[in-house]
Amino acid sequence: MIRAVVLLGLCMLLAEGFKEIVFFGVLCFVWLCWLDVRSGGMYGLKTEASFDSAHFLTDYYGKCENLHGHRWRVVVYIEQEVLQGEGTMRDMVLDFGVFKKAVREVAASLDHAFLVEEGSLKPATVEALQGEGFSLVMLPFRTTAENLARWFCDQLVERGLPVSQIECYETPNNCATYRP
Ligand SMILES: [Zn+2]
Repeated sequence: MIRAVVLLGLCMLLAEGFKEIVFFGVLCFVWLCWLDVRSGGMYGLKTEASFDSAHFLTDYYGKCENLHGHRWRVVVYIEQEVLQGEGTMRDMVLDFGVFKKAVREVAASLDHAFLVEEGSLKPATVEALQGEGFSLVMLPFRTTAENLARWFCDQLVERGLPVSQIECYETPNNCATYRP
């Protein structure tokens, strides 16, 4: 409010007539209201989902170069400056039901699957595994917790969620984070 008064005073000094004063005054008021809304803090929600999947790391020298599995746990944070204005989600960032459903659906797309970095297996091996009925998810990146966190973020942003952070736990104590 102090900023508004100071700026309005400045406008009055600069303007040469009454109409200009009103015009500049209204412009400044709208602009400052917008700034106040923007700097009024953030609302946030958090939910999580987990999935089981197999993977291996290419070009890695250690246990993780072998095929193994994890129970991945993904914690998703969304943030928004302004709450919903109307409808059933009035005064919410997002309905928790909608939020949880989106996160669970993305997690389900990797559940009980073999996460394979594209190009890391011979085409014949991929064909043979698929021929046996195994579920493979081909991903265009090395399947590290960091990359999976970013992939989760991209999937949820595509669904319109205002994601602020993803935590991807490969084990209960080891977590990678990604912020868009
Ligand atoms: Zn692993």
